[in-house]
Amino acid sequence: MIIQEVKQETKVTLEEKNLWNGIRHHDLSCTTRVFLWMAMHNAYMVGANWLWPGFAPEYQERSKCQKCHTIETMDHILTKCQANGQVQVWQLAQKLWSQKDGTNLATTLGTILANPSIMIKGNRKTVNGANRLYRLIMSESAHLFWKMRCERTIQKEGEEISSSQIKNRWIETINTRLELDQKMTNSKYEKKSIPIKLVQNTWKNTLKDEGQLPQNWVTDGGVLVGIDLRDDDGRGRDRLSQAWEPENFLSPTLCA
Ligand SMILES: [Zn+2]
Repeated sequence: MIIQEVKQETKVTLEEKNLWNGIRHHDLSCTTRVFLWMAMHNAYMVGANWLWPGFAPEYQERSKCQKCHTIETMDHILTKCQANGQVQVWQLAQKLWSQKDGTNLATTLGTILANPSIMIKGNRKTVNGANRLYRLIMSESAHLFWKMRCERTIQKEGEEISSSQIKNRWIETINTRLELDQKMTNSKYEKKSIPIKLVQNTWKNTLKDEGQLPQNWVTDGGVLVGIDLRDDDGRGRDRLSQAWEPENFLSPTLCA
């Protein structure tokens, strides 16, 4: 199902081994890898998993989304739910992505779960950075919304999270990932350290006051760096209007 969906949305043909290698991709944080692995294995207790024989009726009621009153599949949670956050998280993700690339994120369950294996064509000099940012945005956004869904349904007993909180948490999540990238350029991480150039390429065109940043912003801990969600940078509108063209994608590659 995931492979078919990715092909339909992105014209990229994946093999099953791409999916399993993708969720182990070293660009992904450990908790995000676990989330994608669990979601791909249908291992979370959501939706029809509560309808297994033997569950008492009061547990079976948990199969439904408290907000939408339909079966709460992972697809519903991440791409269809009407509770605060699902649409907003993907809008924020698209906004940042539009500053980097002209394509639509095409957020379906398939593209979300397979995102580490999808390669996007771009400027040759920055292609590694664009593909990497795509992976980070897709996986961190999906994982954040999953965490907020669990807070809403379990800790807050259905109380919605406000739009301003959602926006702040999304920005914080992406900035934390940016900070992790900066830290991981340290040679003390040896084989796991990330090249400075790759971090620069990943975040290029997404940072606040980017033109004023010193050349060594990646490694200078004294420089305050964060993403910039511009309302209109003069490019986003045009880029967003571009179709999700097949030529925007390259063949998937296996993850190291
Ligand atoms: Zn829902």
